[in-house]
Amino acid sequence: MIDAPLLPWPDAVLERATERRAAAGFMPDLLAGARYLAMLLSGGKTLVKDGRILFLDPAVLPAGDEAGRGTVFLGSTTDAVAPMGPDIDLVLVHGVDEADAAALAESEGAVLLGYREAVATLDAAHAAIFIEASAIANWHRGHTHCPRCGAETVPESGGWVRRCSNDGTEHFPRTDPAIIVAVVGADDRILLGGGTNWESNRYSTLAGFVEPGESLEQAVVREIAEEVGVRLHSPRYLGSQSWPFPASLMLGFIAYTDDDVATPDGVEVTRARWFSRAELAEAVSSGEVVISARLSIARSLIEHWYGGRIEDAPASNTAKEAVGG
Ligand SMILES: [Zn+2]
Repeated sequence: MIDAPLLPWPDAVLERATERRAAAGFMPDLLAGARYLAMLLSGGKTLVKDGRILFLDPAVLPAGDEAGRGTVFLGSTTDAVAPMGPDIDLVLVHGVDEADAAALAESEGAVLLGYREAVATLDAAHAAIFIEASAIANWHRGHTHCPRCGAETVPESGGWVRRCSNDGTEHFPRTDPAIIVAVVGADDRILLGGGTNWESNRYSTLAGFVEPGESLEQAVVREIAEEVGVRLHSPRYLGSQSWPFPASLMLGFIAYTDDDVATPDGVEVTRARWFSRAELAEAVSSGEVVISARLSIARSLIEHWYGGRIEDAPASNTAKEAVGG
């Protein structure tokens, strides 16, 4: 088998500068100095212009101190982030009022897009920044109060810690492990599935959450048995991708089975289908089947098994494609 590159973005595109952001006064000084560029998030959407996230000069940011709005230091750019180049500090402004965001989009000639829409045109670096911003914004939104005592928590360390205003406990961003699996049969076909909320011709690799007390490999075996009744062996880890909708880290595996009958559980998975390489390439290029979009780990796993790039049908390569597991 050919080893296709697995991960679309193996290197970090932002330098997170953990020590710098933890220093006292870091965030107020950064914001007061206004030598940064801002990414705005409003209802999960950001400004996109010419196929890139539009990073704004602080001077044009809408004023506002509404509940839920906050700032996070995303990091400093590396060479990978076009068109700015390296060493630009990026700040996320999240929880922006939707009317303010819409007005700003209009004045800047940009559009407001969620990740699933935007990723159709973003490059890998901008997609990775959108992922990071979504992940940390989702965490802030869900952790405004202390899980121990219920008092309000206050952001620290550039937005990467929240501290309880009552008992002083620190709370760190969390991410929930989920496995996603390329299931390969004895005849080297791949098993892909689809769910109820998807278009009827869309297929992806199967996925599920890791439960407490379970290893990744055990989760792979259990989830696939539950979803399609297939018994797996020899799971092998291939790579990971943050998938913060709302808070997952997708851990990608390839695993094998001697079973050739797959029975969808009818709940999480409503259809399952085996594809040979030739069958999948033909079904995707003709538009009969739509698989996960580029820059998703699901697509990377499928193409890893396939041994190269699979060409989409021209009509299926639209912003409507969803991504991930
Ligand atoms: Zn507390």
